[in-house]
Amino acid sequence: MLIIGITGTLGAGKGTVVEYLRNKRRFAYFSVRDFLREEVHQRGLEANRDTLTSVANDLRAQHSPSYIVDELYRRAAQSGSNAIIESIRAVGEVEALRKKGGFMLWAVDADAKTRYERIRLRGSETDHIDYDTFLDNEKRELDNTDPNKQNLKACMAMADATLRNDGNIEELHKKIDEILSRFMPQEEEEHRRPSWDEYFMDLCHSVALRATCNRGRSGCVIVKDKQILVTGYVGSPSHLPHCDEVGHLFRKTLHEDGSVSTHCVRTVHAEQNAICQAARRGVALEGSTLYCTMTPCRTCAMLIINCGIRKVVADYKYHAGAESEEMFEKAGVELQYIHNEVLQYNNQKQEKSE
Ligand SMILES: [Zn+2]
Ligand SMILES: [Zn+2]
Repeated sequence: MLIIGITGTLGAGKGTVVEYLRNKRRFAYFSVRDFLREEVHQRGLEANRDTLTSVANDLRAQHSPSYIVDELYRRAAQSGSNAIIESIRAVGEVEALRKKGGFMLWAVDADAKTRYERIRLRGSETDHIDYDTFLDNEKRELDNTDPNKQNLKACMAMADATLRNDGNIEELHKKIDEILSRFMPQEEEEHRRPSWDEYFMDLCHSVALRATCNRGRSGCVIVKDKQILVTGYVGSPSHLPHCDEVGHLFRKTLHEDGSVSTHCVRTVHAEQNAICQAARRGVALEGSTLYCTMTPCRTCAMLIINCGIRKVVADYKYHAGAESEEMFEKAGVELQYIHNEVLQYNNQKQEKSE
């Protein structure tokens, strides 16, 4: 078993490395941010930059400076599989993890100009800064003499392996494979047959590649008795233009508590398209199991219930999935998550701000 801690500069591509290790090399994933979100939620607070920071400081003061990564290491070890911890930011954390064994630290880095371009393209509000401000901010974050405070530069200097990510994604994947082949015992490289859940979820991800709305490229596979009945991915109704061609079609939703969220309404959801495929082909869905990317939305959940689907397996939690979870429970539809975390998708921030 190998536990890899990830550190690195902003925009270097830590997320891309993590994605490859999770999806292609089957590493379990543990994130400091998700851990903090969970803790903030348990304390009945709203998760934002301030509450996340104050809860992190509180936990470290109450227990130990490395408390959060210690907890994640414990969970990773319990998972029994190779695992990633993202992201490591303090020297004290690296030292604590090193003592536990089976641990290695990877640093991800790239040329500053390249990283600046990447975060600019990513386009979240906090990233709209000019190049000089980006460099100034970074200078402040990179260095810190307190071993328990964020010091990316020192962490990166302690790394067992450094991935330079200045080229394309294929080159990065190749470098990851090279490092793994050096550090992973040979027997773990041998072919492992996927479980049924892994098999159908992998198909779900392949189907999702055909999706045409980047607000969430989701896929869906409906199966019965371990056989595939139908598939679907998110996209416009047949013969209508796609989001990828003409842009999204946003509508605002006013919620009970007065908050407003923005959704793209151009598309038929992956679950709905799978159900439509069943309707066109005359396939009964009674007693079937539905695999999907994240907790189905309210409308999809209602359709799923009324199609007689008995079980839903979602890869991740949807941040606003509570209502669907409640409906499934009342209707007796079993809901299972592969990863018990909320999926962060492109432009999610936009929703809250509007
Ligand atoms: Zn769209
Ligand atoms: Zn839906």
